[in-house]
Order: sequence, then C-alpha cells, then structure tokens
Amino acid sequence: MAVIDDPEWEKEMGKSESFKDLCVKTLKESGARLTKPRMALIECLAHSKVPLSPKVILQKTAEQLDEQESIDAVTVYRILDRFSELGLVHQVAPNGDYIACTHLACEASTHIMTHCTSCDAAREIHVPEEVLAPMLWYLKSQNQFEPKKHLFQLDGICARCQAKAKT
Ligand SMILES: [Zn+2]
Ligand SMILES: [Zn+2]
Ligand SMILES: [Zn+2]
Repeated sequence: MAVIDDPEWEKEMGKSESFKDLCVKTLKESGARLTKPRMALIECLAHSKVPLSPKVILQKTAEQLDEQESIDAVTVYRILDRFSELGLVHQVAPNGDYIACTHLACEASTHIMTHCTSCDAAREIHVPEEVLAPMLWYLKSQNQFEPKKHLFQLDGICARCQAKAKT
C-alpha cells in the first residue's frame, strides 16, 4: 500500500478539517459517546488516501489504543454505515472500502471518484456542471435514464503512478 505525499490532497483534506468536526457531531447526535476508540477511528479515516476496509479500520484503530480501550467490529460497521448515509465517507469499488469525503465544504454537486488501480489511491474531484451536462443529457434523452446520485467512479492510473512508469 503506497503512502504518498501529495500536496494537492493535503490541501483538500485541510479544507475539510470539517470532516472530523462533522463526524464528531454525527456521533454525538446519534447518542454515541465520544470514546477514544471512536476518535481513533475518525483519525484513521481522516488520514488515509487509500480506501480502507472495515477490517483494516478496526486494526488501525486498535493499534492506537491501550489494552483497556477497545472497539469491536460491530461498532466499526455501525459507524461506517452512519457516516456513509450522511456522505461523510464514500465507498470505493470494487471492494466497497471506505474513504473520507474531501468535498464536504464544497458546493458543487457532481464529483468523480478517481481510483488508481495501481496504488489504490482514491481522490474525489469535482467536475463543472457544463462538462457533465452533455453526458447527463445523453443518459436522459437517449437511454431514458434519470441520474440521481452525483458521485461516480473512474478507475485508471494516477499521475504519480504514470510518472513512476516512465522512469
Ligand atoms: Zn465526497
Ligand atoms: Zn497510483
Ligand atoms: Zn467538490
């Protein structure tokens, strides 16, 4: 699993410092106490550039904790479900692993999740309406399909992996 140092990503994630705030708020509202394990889970999502499976999230979270504190798989699944419903995290195909939303503060409605099949890095990019308009029109008028959910995923090779392949 590549850990990449990506200033663009840091910038986006910085903008979405709100990610942690909103996660905390969500847990509070759902009546969950803000235990250290739950906070560790949020940190773990906030710092990952690759999608993480619930199993890995559980592992990484447990690594941050002392023996007395623990978090179980059921809690992890429940939190991820809730966050997912609220758009705080997105699931990335093909495994359905979870990545933090980096566009929480963003007004644009249409985003593309680019997913690198080489290093597994996933990045949410927003696409101007006018760029997507022809495609949405095509789906509606030529295929009688009404698109609703405005986040889709494209698999490919990220800039970093392309550069690596050239050297
Ligand atoms: Zn998002
Ligand atoms: Zn890559
Ligand atoms: Zn955006």
